[in-house]
Parts: sequence; structure tokens; C-alpha cells
Amino acid sequence: ATPTSIMVGTGRAAELGVLFRKGDALQALQGVKVIAFDKTGTLTQGRPDVTDVVVLEGDEDMLLAMVAAAEAQSEHPIARAIERAAEARGLRLPEVTKARAVAGHGMKAEVEGKDILIGNMRLMSREKIATDAFEAPLSDLAEQGRTPVLVAVNGVPALVIGISDPVRPTSRRTIEALHARGIKVAMVSGDTRKAAEAIARDLGIDHVEAEVLPKGKAKIVSALQQSFGSVAFVGDGINDAPALASADVGVAIGTGTDVAIEAADVVLMGGDPGAVVTALDVSRKTMANIR
Ligand code: ADP
Ligand code: MG
Repeated sequence: ATPTSIMVGTGRAAELGVLFRKGDALQALQGVKVIAFDKTGTLTQGRPDVTDVVVLEGDEDMLLAMVAAAEAQSEHPIARAIERAAEARGLRLPEVTKARAVAGHGMKAEVEGKDILIGNMRLMSREKIATDAFEAPLSDLAEQGRTPVLVAVNGVPALVIGISDPVRPTSRRTIEALHARGIKVAMVSGDTRKAAEAIARDLGIDHVEAEVLPKGKAKIVSALQQSFGSVAFVGDGINDAPALASADVGVAIGTGTDVAIEAADVVLMGGDPGAVVTALDVSRKTMANIR
């Protein structure tokens, strides 16, 4: 590849809203066999909403108020959804005496003298909670592609909150366009297997990895590299940074976190993950003209 043609390709991509931060990435993208996407905030809007509140034990509004109070200390998009739901009900939030995030699991808090756990099944298992009472609402929600948020108070299952994060309107056609170009599409998510699979099925994704801990995304990239060859990873979050760095081409959503953008080789300026197709086309055209 000549420096001039790389410059022309990079300039053309920039006009189309795709920032190639290194000339290497423009060359590497045309050769990828698999494009792996983060789910939350990348294929989905990342602006989840509370859709269901299922009480197992206690008063619904009181429980929701406690959870919202604890979530006020969290940065997770799920936390914002729960806060908005409490606000919509006009609930007054109690005082939180302790709160700490458990990465990939949820959070632990102390609210009005009660120990409260908020998060996924992994959190409940880790904290040795008897989870039988959670099973039925959990599988109901997951089957609909919703994320169940489990709540235990003083070690007892108390509440299940259903969260829905709509897929972006462009996601399905992006995956179709990649398939038409002979690319395999994977999705990697920290979400529950059932919820992730429901969304993957809906979008026509070839390969799903769910319940991935923040540290695990980079490992999945190397497993995909071993099985299929060159891999691009598309993501937006802090927890996507290691995967973006270890992929052959890391692609960040321009509206994503600074950490993700810094770890990436390519930035999709408009905030639409569908622009990865534009990036691929410019890369292929540039390299075809060179050969
Ligand atoms: P993702 O970005 O895919 O949600 P994370 O590693 O941030 O991945 O979180 C993994 C899972 O942990 C979430 O899907 C959710 O089930 C749970 N979780 C994390 N943080 C919170 C929180 N603040 N409140 C409730 N659940 C949480
Ligand atoms: Mg994300």
C-alpha cells in the first residue's frame, strides 16, 4: 500500500464520519473474517428502561425506593433506569449508609440498616443466597430478551426488576450488510445468556458469548482469532477497552466512553455502529485500488 493511497482512503473515510487513527487499521480492516460487537450501548441503545417489577417479599414501593437509593451511587445504565422508575412513581429515596459496585455482578449496599444486594445471578451465588424464589420471574424475563435485576434484602430474595434496552434501529441491517460481505458476526455481552440469545436471534448474529466478565472480552477476541482469523471488535464501554486493544482492529462508537475511544484504532464519529460497514467498504476499496 502506498502512503498516498492510504491518505486518500483515510480522508475519504473521514468525510463519511469514520476516523482511522492509524493507516495500519485501514489496511487491516479489509482482511477481517469476524466482527464481534459488544451488546449494551453498541447493538442496543444503551438507554435501558424498567419494564417489570415483581415482588417476592415485602412492599413494592419501599423496595424500589431502597434499590433506587443504592443505584444512585452506580454508573451503570441499569442504575439510571431504576432511578427513573422510582422518580416516575414519586418515591422518596431513603438514606444509603454503604454502597459499592461489584464489577460484572451488580452492587452491595446498606440502606436503613438493611443489607441489600442488587445484580445478577452470579452476584447472588457469590453471596450464597438461596435463589429458588428468583428462578420463575428470572426465566420469564430472560425469554423476552429482558435483563432481570435481582434484589435480596438481608439475604432473602425480595424483588426482581425487568430491564429492557431496545436494539438500535440500524443494528439488524448492519448485520445483514456484513453477512452480504462474507463477514461472520459475533456478539459479546456481560448480560445473562437467555437475554443475550434472544437479542442475537432477533438480529441474526452467528455467534454469542454471554455472561462475560469485564476481563473476559479480550480472551474471547483471541479465541475468535484462533478459530476464524483476523477479528475486529466494536464497542463503547470502559469494559470494552481490553478487547478493543487486543482485536486486529478495535472500533469504538464515537458517543462511547473516552477509555474505549482511546483504546480503538477506528472511531465511528456519528455514534452509529452501522458505520462499521462504511469503514469496511472504504478499506476494501482502498486496498483493491492498490493491488
Ligand atoms: P454490561 O455492559 O453487558 O451490562 P457489565 O459487566 O457492566 O456488562 O455488567 C454485567 C451484568 O452485571 C449486568 O448485565 C447486570 O446484570 C449486572 N450489573 C452490573 N452493574 C449493575 C448495577 N449497578 N445494578 C444492577 N445490575 C448490575
Ligand atoms: Mg457497552
